[in-house]
Amino acid sequence: MLRAGQYDVYILETGRFRLDAGVVFGVIPKALWGKNVTPDSQNRMKMALRSILIIGNDHKILVETGAGRHLNKRLKRLYQIDHSEFSLEKALKQVGISKDEITDVINTHLHFDHCGGNVVFQEGALSPAFPNAIYHIQKAQLKWAQSPSILDKNSYVPEDYMLLLDQNMIRSVEGETELFPGIHIFTTRGHTPGQQHILLKDFQEPLFFCADLFPLHYNIKTTWISSLDIFPLDFIAEKEKFLYRAEQNAWRIIFPHDKEVISAKVRKSTKYYRAYEKRFDY
Ligand SMILES: [Zn+2]
Repeated sequence: MLRAGQYDVYILETGRFRLDAGVVFGVIPKALWGKNVTPDSQNRMKMALRSILIIGNDHKILVETGAGRHLNKRLKRLYQIDHSEFSLEKALKQVGISKDEITDVINTHLHFDHCGGNVVFQEGALSPAFPNAIYHIQKAQLKWAQSPSILDKNSYVPEDYMLLLDQNMIRSVEGETELFPGIHIFTTRGHTPGQQHILLKDFQEPLFFCADLFPLHYNIKTTWISSLDIFPLDFIAEKEKFLYRAEQNAWRIIFPHDKEVISAKVRKSTKYYRAYEKRFDY
């Protein structure tokens, strides 16, 4: 467990999946990323599905819900969704929290690997996985998800959020705000419109859940972006802005998809930013 301001923060491993490593590293040649990453026979690399649970101030806030279990067989196989070792259910149980107790869910954006666990398949139908929660999603992302582009439409599974919209469980957030005392929301362009990021204020070590701004610690290098970042130059500008903030304010960045490095701080060396004080477990 971590502590930030008035909150206890738990890191939750909710599963593993695989993505094509060429997609993950975009224009970066395999000769470079291949030094660190060994893909499987189909060129896919294993990635984490990481959430955080924030408890305090009469709230139990879950950030990200993982990939969920209702993807069709083809997609489950394509992405090798794996809940054998980790799952959201298991992770919540370890903390001693039931799904009914969650007061708020924050989806950083609506790509299936960040919000698939919003809903569960029960008695032949989908229903909200957190029946007593308000789901906080950026207005711009909600709009985009309902008519995505030709480039990113495969990243969205409408069941993950349309049901919640119908049941009036979504609170749309507009831009940057302090969602709860000491919990700030930032937004960025580039990966997808209205991606949001969570900063937990703390005098010693603020925690920054960066979502897909830095999916892996390798992405701290500014040009190491993926093919899924659909507005690449905007995205690089956002990365530079947030790397500067992270260094200046000694933020600890929590990576959502890095199966080894869970969190790190950043520091600018002569050429680019680097990760230091990496943490591999909690
Ligand atoms: Zn994404």
